[in-house]
Amino acid sequence: MDHPHNLHAAANCWSLRRSWATLRDSNTAPDDDAGTIRSWRPGTGGGHGSGHGDPLGDAVTASVSRGDTQTRIAETIRDDVDSARWLATSALRHTGMPIGPALAVLTRIIGDLTPDVAGEVARYVDHADKAARRALRLGDDHWPIPSNPACPSCGVRMLRARRSAPDSATWPVICGAGCQCTGTTCGCGMTVQVRRVAHIWPAAWARDTLDLNTGDKEATNA
Ligand SMILES: [Zn+2]
Ligand SMILES: [Zn+2]
Repeated sequence: MDHPHNLHAAANCWSLRRSWATLRDSNTAPDDDAGTIRSWRPGTGGGHGSGHGDPLGDAVTASVSRGDTQTRIAETIRDDVDSARWLATSALRHTGMPIGPALAVLTRIIGDLTPDVAGEVARYVDHADKAARRALRLGDDHWPIPSNPACPSCGVRMLRARRSAPDSATWPVICGAGCQCTGTTCGCGMTVQVRRVAHIWPAAWARDTLDLNTGDKEATNA
């Protein structure tokens, strides 16, 4: 779906999947407080009551296994993703939710969500992603397009592809100047124009409209 809320939500999910994986791979914290994590982990008596064998809980526990700071970050991510999952589950209760880790499932069903729900999901996931990236001192996933085309709305040459998804052919494009849509009279060219929403264009639009000129393919994710 090319609604900007859905596009933002999908890009945010991929961004969190990247930052989360990085968090999981980081091993810088002292190994002295794994019990704090276990105390809130689902299925271990932490009182959260959200069931056991939860892949999300397992992933968070594995990713940030020590220390108060890591615990807080893990709790933030868990709360945000749980909230997003609850919203999506409620919205799709008649069609059923796929089985799997919460964030992977969310990423898969973004296109099925109404724009309102997608907008809420986007906010929760963005909050979690920013917490993870702050902790890691990791920048955002914005990739400057080498041909440096002008934004069709504000004219500033700061268009960026959000490059977290594994397939570069799906990367949406945003305006790094942060310009917002003014609605149906906006010159942005978005398929669905929504007032006061940050501009975001689907990859197909970028392919058809911009000179992407990816040059030496530096955009490829590490
Ligand atoms: Zn702009
Ligand atoms: Zn616009």
